[in-house]
Amino acid sequence: MSFRIEDQSLISLNPANDTEVGRVPVADASGVLAAVKTARTAGLEWSLLSFEQRAEALSYGLRQIVARADELGRLISAEMGKPLAQGVGEAAYSAQHGLDDLIAEARKALVPEMLSEGKLRTTVHYVARGVVAVITPWNFPVNLSLNALIPALLAGNTVVYKPSEYTALTGDLLARLLATGLPDGVLTVIHGAGDVGKALVEAEIDMVAFVGSQLTGQRILEAQARQFNPAVLEMGGKDAMLVLADAELEAAARYAVSGSLRNSGQVCVSVERIYVEEPIADKFENRVRELMQDFKMGDPNDEATQMGPLVSVVQRQKVLDQLADARAKGATIEGGEVPQRAGSWLTPALATGVSDEMALMQDETFGPVIAIQRVKSAAEALEKANALPYGLGGTVWSQDTNKANAIAARLEAGMIGINRGLGGASGSPFVGNKKSTLGFFGSVAGVRQFTQIRTISQEV
Ligand code: ADP
Repeated sequence: MSFRIEDQSLISLNPANDTEVGRVPVADASGVLAAVKTARTAGLEWSLLSFEQRAEALSYGLRQIVARADELGRLISAEMGKPLAQGVGEAAYSAQHGLDDLIAEARKALVPEMLSEGKLRTTVHYVARGVVAVITPWNFPVNLSLNALIPALLAGNTVVYKPSEYTALTGDLLARLLATGLPDGVLTVIHGAGDVGKALVEAEIDMVAFVGSQLTGQRILEAQARQFNPAVLEMGGKDAMLVLADAELEAAARYAVSGSLRNSGQVCVSVERIYVEEPIADKFENRVRELMQDFKMGDPNDEATQMGPLVSVVQRQKVLDQLADARAKGATIEGGEVPQRAGSWLTPALATGVSDEMALMQDETFGPVIAIQRVKSAAEALEKANALPYGLGGTVWSQDTNKANAIAARLEAGMIGINRGLGGASGSPFVGNKKSTLGFFGSVAGVRQFTQIRTISQEV
């Protein structure tokens, strides 16, 4: 565990060395209901402010986050183990992205639309839904939270925010900084584990924005169904990387390694399964092996470190179980060792000779594993990539752009990169197909999910 709950306190532990980072109070059932009530009351005024008034209030808080990105980044790193520079980078980038892009995106999304027919004039308004519960995980605790908090608040909703129990202190500071420019009660943070999240989504709220596991997403959706509430859910994936025989080998190998190991592989859009065409498989695997050996796991405070520990020993055990299953079914595993030291460390692993029936190729692996399967053709790679119920991201690697585009068009995923990662240009949604997401974050259409639509018509 890298947290523990004792006497209504959540004690956050550092997964690099098991020491205490700090503690926050856990909400009890009445605390959850009180937070929702506070949000409901605050919404009466907040929802009536103009967009520009709300944007100004939120910008103030975002600037505080930029100014204190070092402190916030240090907490991210201490609570979930990512290298310090990456924690600071996440905090600074996410708040700046909010200021530079997300506010402008929301402005476009929320401006009323005018329709006319003869003398009839109709205005389509995008109005607040009410109280939104924002529930997020620990792997990018600032980025994923802001991506939900910013559109929810700009649309005139008030928010009760429950950060992950693994990154409660990060969530607490994030919420306090963001709230500095907001009227009281517009953003309330509550802490606790899944039971507190459950109490929140079963309270009288109007919408949920959630990032986390598929099972939790399903439970949240069931709770919202009882209230006829919408939910925006992002629930992870099993992203495939298709490496065709004519791929630029060095670029593909580099992406395979960084995409599999970044954030210790604890990324919903990490490279989870690599399908490589046989003619280049030997060379590809050899180059990946070399690059993996150079990938530096170490103290998160050390500047040269590329990868810290996993978030918890529970998480590590899930990865070890997948590696053991793969080994038992005939895969060769290099690395994937547990060093003799405190914390939840796991060295990077390369799995070759893997096949479809292994858990490693079926279920999400939240760990530093590079899994490579050889295939006879691009068609076989595509078939395997599409065989799972997940569909978040994916990448296609080939120097024949026509072929790569034809495969990308048939790849059942929400975000696809050709000869690069899957991140889109500014304004792109963060979206999955199939069972990876319901709704999505980002983009003009994404912001509108945080609103209800009201038309007002009159003759002029
Ligand atoms: P992860 O393994 O990525 O942490 P989870 O789905 O377990 O994914 O957790 C994501 C977030 O959902 C966390 O903030 C967690 O506390 C919360 N959560 C867990 N169970 C529930 C539930 N039944 N209802 C609402 N939120 C929950």
